[in-house]
Amino acid sequence: MKVAFFDIAAQYRALRYEIDAAVRHVLESGRYSNATENAAFEKELGAYLGVREVVAVNSGTDALLLSLKALGIGADDEVIVPSFTFFATAEAVCLAGAQPRFADCANGAFNIDLRSVEDAFSPKVKAVIAVHLYGQPVDLAPIQEFCAARNLHLIEDCAQALGAAYRGRRVGTLGVAGAFSFYPTKNLGACGDGGAICCDDPELAAHLRRLRNHGRTSAFSHSEIGINSRLDEIQAAILRVKLPHLDHWNARRLALAQRYRIGLQNTRCILPPGCNSSTSVFHHFAVIHPQRNALRAFLAEHDVETAIYYPTPCHLQSAFGNGVNALSLPQAERNADHMLALPIYPELSDIAIDHVVSLVRAFEQG
Ligand SMILES: *Cc1c(COP(=O)(O)O)cnc(C)c1O
Repeated sequence: MKVAFFDIAAQYRALRYEIDAAVRHVLESGRYSNATENAAFEKELGAYLGVREVVAVNSGTDALLLSLKALGIGADDEVIVPSFTFFATAEAVCLAGAQPRFADCANGAFNIDLRSVEDAFSPKVKAVIAVHLYGQPVDLAPIQEFCAARNLHLIEDCAQALGAAYRGRRVGTLGVAGAFSFYPTKNLGACGDGGAICCDDPELAAHLRRLRNHGRTSAFSHSEIGINSRLDEIQAAILRVKLPHLDHWNARRLALAQRYRIGLQNTRCILPPGCNSSTSVFHHFAVIHPQRNALRAFLAEHDVETAIYYPTPCHLQSAFGNGVNALSLPQAERNADHMLALPIYPELSDIAIDHVVSLVRAFEQG
């Protein structure tokens, strides 16, 4: 039995008629940029998140970059980010002209640790980016307190976590701004690139709308340097078709994760920590295994695809050289060496999960 790591076209196959009609509608309208589909998508995503403002942009990376710029973060500023995340989290800080300061994961976990955030603090720090990695919400209360006490902006990187909740609220609405990605593999995926920022402050949203459109205040007036980061109307139309299905898809991911959890009990897999006060949307199902590479090779031999997110923590990336490489962040390094992402997506069958579980057991009994 082959188990693929992604089946990106499955959602298209399921919603083919609605998506085709939505795309055709945009094509026939002749309005391909910054028009009615964008406005409607922003409103619908805002209602879903329970937040006043959503600004659609071209990618999750731009969502982070523009959040930082709109908050006035730039040269001479520093931003605390987890080292164990996708490169773009820290890259956005550099694109804004600021410097990342890397924090470690909590012991035995994949998300950022308050104590390491405290260690990374300096008087130049203006913001913290909390990443809800793999769709599992960060335990935000202590980070919120840390930021409030020092007047720091808390930005949430929700690229992997659209729909996840912390203490009854959707992630993205707990800090000053939340950044989302609609890259095709994400829980809500476009058929190309896309992103969004949510916030509760209309002035911040207005600033974000200017920044995504060349700092424009009217057709030919520009009050500041922005970028071109508009979401295509075709992508907005596709996302509008998919959004009403997201909760159902996320619930299916949760059920599959539960099946893995039960199946993998009493194996040498260390399972992702659960949390009573949050709901994960399991963008990935990540385990820690002492023989990760051998297990991965064994699963590949048996036609089961897996992935490693991420084999190199940001503080060890050559792009962030210049001294930060001297840092030692042992949890991030342990995760990079031992985490394995097992296939999980709404269209995957229970039988596929059971098959993966039985292969893990077969490997361990070797
Ligand atoms: C995907 C991702 C991003 C970047 O989003 P893009 O849309 O690819 O630019 C940022 N942060 C995290 C954690 C991601 O997973």
